[in-house]
Amino acid sequence: MSIILLDQDTINKIAAGEVIERPMAVVKELVENSIDAGANMVTVEIKDGGKSFMRITDNGSGIERDDIELAFTPHATSKIKGATDLLGVSTLGFRGEALASVAAVSQLEMITKVKREDVGCRYRIDGGESKEIEQVGCPDGTTFIIQNLFYNTPARLKFLKSHQTEAGYIGSVIERLSLSHPEISFRFINQGQTKLHTSGNGNLKDTIYQIYGRDITSNLLTVDLTSEICNIGGFIGKPVVSRGNRAYINYFINGRYIKSNIINRAIEEAYKPFTMQHRYPFTVLHFHIEPEFIDVNVHPQKMEIRFTNERELYKTIYECISDRLAHREFIPDVTFEE
Ligand code: ADP
Ligand code: MG
Repeated sequence: MSIILLDQDTINKIAAGEVIERPMAVVKELVENSIDAGANMVTVEIKDGGKSFMRITDNGSGIERDDIELAFTPHATSKIKGATDLLGVSTLGFRGEALASVAAVSQLEMITKVKREDVGCRYRIDGGESKEIEQVGCPDGTTFIIQNLFYNTPARLKFLKSHQTEAGYIGSVIERLSLSHPEISFRFINQGQTKLHTSGNGNLKDTIYQIYGRDITSNLLTVDLTSEICNIGGFIGKPVVSRGNRAYINYFINGRYIKSNIINRAIEEAYKPFTMQHRYPFTVLHFHIEPEFIDVNVHPQKMEIRFTNERELYKTIYECISDRLAHREFIPDVTFEE
């Protein structure tokens, strides 16, 4: 046996595999970058479930010409300076891996302009090999065009599901991003058809309506709690709009969509006395927890998180929701009763 150090191209492809599992992950990473860049309008267009074509357009800060190549270098980020900053991360990104990873496994074009420049830049990078930077006229902000994802990693390409299924995953991730940022207007266009358009007026209930429609929106209870360990705001569905699966349990921590068994259990336990077996609640909850009480750096896709005081958190959430459900008005809304 002989040990060799892998070349950078191979390293990049391995790293890309952790972050970019499927088209949905590209959308998630790039839209999170748009959010971090202060955009208030984000458009996602896809074809063929994102496999052949994805375009993500934002009106955020843009990237300076001199920073472009660096932005595509692994572990290059403008969001943290060192390990100590990890304790208080407030941006969605911080690992500096997304652009390098996406570029390693696709044909990518980026057009970007910062406000104070008159012209922008177009940059092309193909399977991690950068091609060219040229000046172009373009609006403020950044557009990414990703073509032929995984064209150079056939094994991964083979694992993708049908166009329709992949498009569905992308739609769900955009819905979650819209719910986590009601102040941003999101548009999702699949095969030329607008599937979702949120107003971005900052009103969470309006965003819920734009995604889920009337039945759910007219059966919501407001949640608003300030406690020592966290603040909770948002909406929970009355038991009457319970669903057959967990897909309608949405929650965000400091603006980030994550999955947490603790939080799921707290929510589901609180609903138990009010719902039948195998029915799951509808929720859109925003938690604000001081960044020093959580660790977001435990998962490459940043979907998991650790809490320093899990028990208290569980109790706070459980009590908050049980309380709200117990005091809901028992007069059903006749027009929307199931
Ligand atoms: P991270 O988000 O962890 O910093 P990324 O690889 O996703 O790493 O992005 C690298 C850098 O490129 C970011 O830190 C940011 O400075 C810049 N960047 C990426 N996307 C955008 C965008 N849409 N608008 C402005 N800057 C961006
Ligand atoms: Mg990022």
